[in-house]
Amino acid sequence: MKKANNKLETKFPALSRNEATARAIVSAFLISLDPTVSELADLKCAVSEAVTNAIVHGYGGGAGTVFMKLESNDCREVKIEVRDKGCGIENVEEAMEPLFTTNTDGERSGMGFTVMQTFCDKVKVKSACGKGTKVTLIKKLSDT
Ligand code: ATP
Ligand code: MG
Repeated sequence: MKKANNKLETKFPALSRNEATARAIVSAFLISLDPTVSELADLKCAVSEAVTNAIVHGYGGGAGTVFMKLESNDCREVKIEVRDKGCGIENVEEAMEPLFTTNTDGERSGMGFTVMQTFCDKVKVKSACGKGTKVTLIKKLSDT
């Protein structure tokens, strides 16, 4: 990705109500780029999945901090990183498969990563057991 010309970094406690906050931050950051309604919806949805994962899986519903970094460049590429210092993912490849979930109470469908991949051009996941997870979402906005 080309060098960023705009950037926003933030962090917030791992509370489920901050999933909405994260979506609002995405909107606020993208507004100056004038995205289409669907581009905006796609990125909000993808970020929401990543943030939910950090809260629910990374920190297991307990205390923690979610870090978010948003960047854009002259080519209208948007890069959003969602990072936690939680439990980490043992096998990233397996975790990213459609329908794979470690959740046992039937509340999760194992589609979070698939949603992220559907709505973004690229999804990168870096994770270390006991250290945490970083999800990078990249999407190029259409030219205006
Ligand atoms: P859904 O997103 O459909 O509600 P899900 O969260 O289980 O269900 P994915 O978002 O695709 O599905 O994630 C797959 C699995 O990857 C999770 O069940 C969890 O085991 C693991 N995982 C994802 N993100 C993290 C994270 N930040 N920290 C630790 N484990 C994670
Ligand atoms: Mg999920």
